[in-house]
Amino acid sequence: MKPAQSYHFTNWGKNLRIRTDAYIQPATEAELIAAVRNHPYIRVVGTGHSWSDVFSTKGVLLNLDKYQRVLHLDKGNKTLTVQAGIKLWQLNEYLDKQGFALINLGSIAQQSIAGAISTGTHGSGIRFQCLASQVLSFSLIDAKGEKRVLHKGTDEFNAAVISLGCLGVISEITLQITEAYRLHDKTFIEDFDSVIHRIDELIAQNDHFKLWWMPPAREVVVYTYKRTQEPRNDSRLRQFMNDRVLSVLGYRTMVKIGHLKNSWRPAINQFLTNQLKKPIDRIEKSFKVFNVPEPPVHRETEWAFDVKDAKELLRGYKELLGNNKYTFNFIQEIRFTKGDDFWLSECHGRDSIWIGVYNHEDHQWNDLHAYFEAFAVKWNGRPHWGKEFLVRKDYLQTSYPKYNDFIRLRKAMDPDGKFSNPLMEAIFD
Ligand SMILES: Cc1cc2nc3c(=O)[nH]c(=O)nc-3n(C[C@H](O)[C@H](O)[C@H](O)COP(=O)(O)OP(=O)(O)OC[C@H]3O[C@@H](n4cnc5c(N)ncnc54)[C@H](O)[C@@H]3O)c2cc1C
Repeated sequence: MKPAQSYHFTNWGKNLRIRTDAYIQPATEAELIAAVRNHPYIRVVGTGHSWSDVFSTKGVLLNLDKYQRVLHLDKGNKTLTVQAGIKLWQLNEYLDKQGFALINLGSIAQQSIAGAISTGTHGSGIRFQCLASQVLSFSLIDAKGEKRVLHKGTDEFNAAVISLGCLGVISEITLQITEAYRLHDKTFIEDFDSVIHRIDELIAQNDHFKLWWMPPAREVVVYTYKRTQEPRNDSRLRQFMNDRVLSVLGYRTMVKIGHLKNSWRPAINQFLTNQLKKPIDRIEKSFKVFNVPEPPVHRETEWAFDVKDAKELLRGYKELLGNNKYTFNFIQEIRFTKGDDFWLSECHGRDSIWIGVYNHEDHQWNDLHAYFEAFAVKWNGRPHWGKEFLVRKDYLQTSYPKYNDFIRLRKAMDPDGKFSNPLMEAIFD
């Protein structure tokens, strides 16, 4: 294992470029432990699909792309043990071949499993928690280079499963999996006001439900997925035309055109929304429905709020994004997840509605981000750790009941700041 010296790393969103003293890719757990023991400052990067500076390091950057094997499938108990660097798409493919699947997924599968769980990555569906909830146990190489195994249901697990790489390096993960299932995808457009009016019913009646909005369009795209064992009926031609040609090439072209001239964007957004006037009605393998084609590079902030406030919050959000000086050349997304007990989970203690503000990078982004964040703070939102946010310790302490406990634990487990970086200092020190 020869470290690359003075390495530059750029994240997926291309908004961060960091320099590190060295870049190490261990292939075994012994090499991983040696790296942690031998370097005073070290931090892991997964696939760099975060927009926030959750991976920069004061020393060495560790990456687990060579540490991504499946270790054990227990078909009887429906569990799977993997090395932490495995990607979600690899898990999907492997499990599918064995007749199993992940319980829930977000919109893409490029991330590493450890990276995804460490920031509270989530999908949508009020009866489903974030991806970290699928973890039954995991091993953590702590700041002393010692291996600890943490089990679901314990306080230490709840503290560490979503911890932004601050408490150690996750090495092996055992996941609860489920029998392979399909999703009945019914996607249509509906007037945004009408959706807000019946939001509680839409949340309750669908296993998975999310909204896409392209402001200032009157309608939103409503995605509803029901879990089923009925046979697939999605045609290859539709998949090719919609998922490859229209969603990738067509959408990218429209985003680029919208980037040329701000005043064209409202018309482009209405045009894109109208493409769904003919609804989608199909049954397909779960992971193929959950995962959408990888979007063009853009910027994101996404916040979790108490779902009890959904109706009023959505009215305020529609007004906020619908009536302002900004123009949007990217979809806006609204999702839902069940609450949990993980100390740093954005959904800690409350079923949540997530509101994301996304835009193709341009001169408006910083202003737009701050404009939305002021609204999010007013509604006691919690930012997605892997996306952009401006709030710091003072605010976060008031928003998370277990925040101070986490700060104390982090000091005890990593007194010399081996796993620290400027963002971690700003939010925890
Ligand atoms: C196009 C796109 C779509 C996305 N869709 C969604 C979505 O649908 N839902 C959602 O919630 N989020 C989504 N995200 C955000 C993304 O899931 C998170 O930012 C996720 O954390 C990225 O995983 P990663 O493997 O790239 O990890 P990184 O971004 O590289 O790292 C994330 C954190 O994990 C830590 N980490 C990584 N590996 C380890 C390890 N072995 N031990 C300890 N810590 C570790 C890192 O130190 C860092 O703090 C999306 C991002 C992009 C770019």
